[in-house]
Amino acid sequence: MAYTYDTENIFAKILRGEIPNDTVLETEHSLAFNDIRPQAPIHVLVIPRGAYVNYDDFASNASDAEIVDYTRAIAKVCEMKGVEADGFRMISNAGEHGVQEVPHLHVHILGGRGLGRMLE
Ligand code: 5GP
Repeated sequence: MAYTYDTENIFAKILRGEIPNDTVLETEHSLAFNDIRPQAPIHVLVIPRGAYVNYDDFASNASDAEIVDYTRAIAKVCEMKGVEADGFRMISNAGEHGVQEVPHLHVHILGGRGLGRMLE
């Protein structure tokens, strides 16, 4: 599917340095920062620097280098935050049914407490 990217979305502004962020990790193709409304003791958002609306857009159109960088950035944040031992959750909301608020691909990394069952 083809996506139209809104260059005025809040994460695009963060990437351009127009809005501050609490950075956790910077890599060549990715940026990770703390969520402004954390839902758990650890709540980090990981985004690609490229203009991708969601995971489908990214997986279809990003370069291999971007995909490798982004995948490893997510793992690196988990390592930095030490969430692997007790467990964590990764979520990427997409579109209307996914209730995606910001139309720039982001993975939420949530941890630091028991998160409960999401799916029954
Ligand atoms: P979504 O619902 O799109 O999956 O999640 C968007 C996330 O972005 C929400 O958890 C929200 O708290 C976070 N968010 C929205 N605006 C900002 C902002 O300006 N800075 C940061 N750090 N997070 C934001």
